[in-house]
Amino acid sequence: MQDWLPRQKEIFRFIEDKLRDVLCSYGYQEIGLPVIESTHLFSRLVGESTDIVEKEMYTFDDRNGESLTLRPEGTAGTVRLAQENGLTFNQVQRLWYAGPMFRYERPQKGRYRQFEQIGAECFGMPGPDIDVELMFMTKRMWEVLEISADLRLELNSLGTAESRAEYRIALQEYLSGVKHELDEDSLKRLESNPLRILDSKVEKTKDLLQGAPHLSEFLDADSIQHFDQLRRILDKQQLSYSVNPHIVRGLDYYNKTVFEWVTDSLGAQGTVCGGGRYDGLVEQIGGKSTPGVGFAIGLDRLALMLEPEFESSKQADVYIAAVGDNARVTALALAEDIRDLQLTTLQVKIRVVVNCGEGKFKSQLKKADSSGASLALILGDDEVANGQVTIKHLRESGEQKLINSEELGTYLAEYYSRIEPRHRTAGMTEE
Ligand code: ATP
Ligand code: MG
Repeated sequence: MQDWLPRQKEIFRFIEDKLRDVLCSYGYQEIGLPVIESTHLFSRLVGESTDIVEKEMYTFDDRNGESLTLRPEGTAGTVRLAQENGLTFNQVQRLWYAGPMFRYERPQKGRYRQFEQIGAECFGMPGPDIDVELMFMTKRMWEVLEISADLRLELNSLGTAESRAEYRIALQEYLSGVKHELDEDSLKRLESNPLRILDSKVEKTKDLLQGAPHLSEFLDADSIQHFDQLRRILDKQQLSYSVNPHIVRGLDYYNKTVFEWVTDSLGAQGTVCGGGRYDGLVEQIGGKSTPGVGFAIGLDRLALMLEPEFESSKQADVYIAAVGDNARVTALALAEDIRDLQLTTLQVKIRVVVNCGEGKFKSQLKKADSSGASLALILGDDEVANGQVTIKHLRESGEQKLINSEELGTYLAEYYSRIEPRHRTAGMTEE
């Protein structure tokens, strides 16, 4: 589990803000899910023999002896929320959530034990139009983050549970024939979850899979039609994708469409978004049969992609330096005045930092400089006695200027109307 320092947190906030705007522009509504759910929810909905449930959950008993789990993903919780609150009953829903997920995995670049996801889940739409909408929406997300050149869309159809069961037998048969050549992990999965072997990263196993039967040969007519329609819309809208028959996703609940957005820039942890259709899930939790489809994005991996180019914002726009007891009190009051002004006369968001504590002007101005501020306001005994303030421009040459405190608002308004808007609000969300 990681600590987030200001720069990393700023990258996350930047990503979240951008993605939230995109979700909003498609009419998706935010929900809040508990971080802890009953263990039973995940074992039942995600599936007993999946990696997540078998070995990745943080599970513990509460004081009452009830088994609880830190959520490893958001779909099960969303389905529970939708069902318990009557959101799936005869209505269509487009929902989204964000927050931390927890999986006991081997930590490495792009894979952590606590990580952030933003996910969207839709109910009541059998598709494939809504499937396409999700793909468009995620594509737009990469565009606003300016990483779309590094990402590609891969699709597959998993058919129904029945077609997968038939395929499972055929795959098991094929792989049993080459059993002695399988890697250890795959061998373990041969009985419990052979489809997951398709996802193997082991070269030898990947080679063996070349000759394996394809799930596409086992699909039911309805799933084939759904997939054909989906692909036809994507082709028509010129959203490029490739069909990857090895995408199975690590969760039991998917049927028909599954998709992933993948990059080559993050090594083995190349999937930044995974999603698909789960038409049986609402019924499985006791609701009326309701189609569902969604995706989850791993923000940590997006942050890794953005990190090299990301320009952190500075801490301050205005730094107030003060020497002397009176001046230090006046500095706090002056900072409050400026923050008040920003709502009225200034109409811009500026960050004001007051030098708290002692120190000579020289050392305070050093701090002002490293805060990134473009203006320093200087208060000493003389200024306070005369109701004045000295202004020093930190990023452009020129004389210091002494002005009356009442004129500061006008001065700042004039100053901020002169410099470019993007410098005014660096690192802050514009209204
Ligand atoms: P992977 O194959 O990489 O393990 P997954 O199939 O387990 O991914 P999902 O359950 O589909 O992942 O979760 C959706 C997204 O969440 C992933 O595509 C990835 O970006 C992110 N993600 C999943 N597990 C982790 C993790 N341990 N650390 C960071 N991000 C993760
Ligand atoms: Mg995983």
